Amino acid sequence: MAPKSLTKKEIKALSERLTYTSRLVWDSIDEREKRKVLAYGEEYKTFLDNSKTEREAVAFIREAARKNGFADEVKRGAGSPFFRVFHNKAVALVRPGGKPLEDGIHIVVSHIDAPRLDLKQKPLYEEVDLAFFKTHYYGGIKKYQWLARPLAIHGCVVKGDGRVVDLAVGEDERDPVFTVLDLLPHLARKAQYNKKLGEAIEGEKLNVLIGSLPIGDKDTKERIKLAVLTYLDDTYGLQEEDFISAELEVVPAGRARDVGWDRSMVGAYGHDDRSCAFAAMKAILDVNRPQKTAVALFVDKEEIGSDGATGAKSKFLEAVLYDLLVAVGIEPSTRAVYDILTRSKALSGDVNGALDPDYQDVHEKRNAARMGYGVCLTKFTGHGGKYNSNDASAEYVGWLRSLFNRDKVVWQTGELGKVDEGGGGTVAKFLAAYGMQVIDCGPAVLSMHSPFEIAHKGDLYMTYKGYKVFLGSK
Ligand code: MN
Ligand code: MN
Repeated sequence: MAPKSLTKKEIKALSERLTYTSRLVWDSIDEREKRKVLAYGEEYKTFLDNSKTEREAVAFIREAARKNGFADEVKRGAGSPFFRVFHNKAVALVRPGGKPLEDGIHIVVSHIDAPRLDLKQKPLYEEVDLAFFKTHYYGGIKKYQWLARPLAIHGCVVKGDGRVVDLAVGEDERDPVFTVLDLLPHLARKAQYNKKLGEAIEGEKLNVLIGSLPIGDKDTKERIKLAVLTYLDDTYGLQEEDFISAELEVVPAGRARDVGWDRSMVGAYGHDDRSCAFAAMKAILDVNRPQKTAVALFVDKEEIGSDGATGAKSKFLEAVLYDLLVAVGIEPSTRAVYDILTRSKALSGDVNGALDPDYQDVHEKRNAARMGYGVCLTKFTGHGGKYNSNDASAEYVGWLRSLFNRDKVVWQTGELGKVDEGGGGTVAKFLAAYGMQVIDCGPAVLSMHSPFEIAHKGDLYMTYKGYKVFLGSK
């Protein structure tokens, strides 16, 4: 093939026609949409500040659903929107569409749990005249990131008589906070510095400092611990045994914040995966009269493998499908449920790790997602030879990219690190188990799984826009 001689203009046209380049959100939208991006960031921060645990996220989503006309209960044959909460830790919002269910439905699933420190069932102890809670970390954390920083405690305690006590301490300016101690550098050489990073902080040392004042006199046994118990009894009516039936989660204290002089990013705990949860919630609330039935499913336990009654491996989605059949006046059956699910399309709303400027060599630059380039479609996750990955089909990726292009959703593709570097998974494969088409779709974040994750407002908004376009599509 002999090279043709072409004018500069012709070469430019060729390049535009033949090559693919992803674009920054900010280069791709007009002033009006830029204002929408910033306004969306404000709403999202409010959601984060009120949803530091899966239970709080469920409460927020349930309230928003109610306000937007979703019913608590399925009305037989009414064909109207409804929601269903599952054990206070998972929730589904359902908006029946105009087309028959046999044509399949559109599902966005996201997870509302995030890495944290959970209190153990016998957490309270006293050591050298200080009181502590023992913890067991939840999900993939880098333990050193949880030391020497203000922490809050959120969660619920179920009393022996069944009464539920909800707590959230450490967020209000007037609240006390808690902390995990770290060793002074002067004495850290053997205990920490000479060890591998992953081994320098032991899980059993992630103990939360909660008090130091005594009660009684010097003959009183465990005076500091007893003082804490007295406070908890006076304030919440709690006794030590109550911790056994509690879910108390230690999370970073403080609000979501704008990051950068230009306020273009949001720094917060829990972008993974509440960025997708908020986008999915807002998308299903905003998509009016969809053609296909729209479902937004919010699940728990993703960070520990999606097991448990409220995780994506549970049959919650099938239960919701039975409800849906009742809602549209069809006699529910297993056959009908599976017929619908196999013909459905889903987005597994989850974050990806953005190309880290300081650690670019763990990514493969040409295929890594980048901050500010829009919502990221991740065809496969997994590790070492795509093992354990959903790996979306070419047909589905093709359908989705043309949909996003048509409706001006700024999107990019990404993968989770370079080949053989590491990897991870999402809930995509659990939906795929029903035979439906599914792909991972969400923003790329920096400092993922840290107490202060960074997301780009342009990407956050395009995640919402992408979900809305998807739920509203034919
Ligand atoms: Mn996630
Ligand atoms: Mn995660």
